[in-house]
Amino acid sequence: MLHLPLYRWRDWIPADCPGCGRRMTGQSLCSACLTRLQPDRALPRCRRCAHPLIGGHCPDCGSVAMACDSVVAAFDYVGLGRDLIHDYKFHGHLALTWLLADRLVQAVRAAGPRMSWPDWIVPVPARREGLRRRGFSPPAEVARLLARRLRLRYRLDGVRRLREGTRQVGRDRALRLQAQADVFACGIAGGLAGRRIAVVDDVLTTGATLQAVAMTLKAAGAAQVEGWVLARAVSLRVCRSPDSRVLQ
Ligand SMILES: [Zn+2]
Ligand SMILES: [Zn+2]
Repeated sequence: MLHLPLYRWRDWIPADCPGCGRRMTGQSLCSACLTRLQPDRALPRCRRCAHPLIGGHCPDCGSVAMACDSVVAAFDYVGLGRDLIHDYKFHGHLALTWLLADRLVQAVRAAGPRMSWPDWIVPVPARREGLRRRGFSPPAEVARLLARRLRLRYRLDGVRRLREGTRQVGRDRALRLQAQADVFACGIAGGLAGRRIAVVDDVLTTGATLQAVAMTLKAAGAAQVEGWVLARAVSLRVCRSPDSRVLQ
């Protein structure tokens, strides 16, 4: 009997490409859609938030001291990347979890030499209303698979949500940052002295949520906090693709 992890068997199962519908072998994207999903490597990126630099400066970090030490994003929140996230989050295509987590595994591995791997992977906790509506937490599902693939420890309750907070869509950055203050608490008893944490989220827009979570973890003693996100929303000014559109 041949023993292989489940993710290896998926390479041989016939399925339709979630990007274009073409029949293929393996439950992933076809090569053409994989190419479409790749972030524009020609653009220099901000190490703190993964946004493309504009004129050598990051339009999102600006003068704000980001609590996150670095961000890795699997793809940009435009075109096919936006469509996949919509299918996953808003149309409940839970089967996309494996594909999306796999993209993030590849991005984390390709992120270059790192000082050390995180001690824990924790998801950004979902809002109660979102959980009720979807029946699942996208960051938690992705984080659980990431931990298994990268052989890292996973803590679902690593960060707790103390209150629902205000929905972020349509708000400007200052209001988003303000709305996220005191929303989260560290869920790991005994604190995080010297620990390295990777925080997983689905979409990074202005970074207000990640900033609030990172500040919470640093206040609990974490030595290093990385953001691992599926999709990075990018400014319209750096979108080159004709079908690119950013939803804030
Ligand atoms: Zn395809
Ligand atoms: Zn930045």
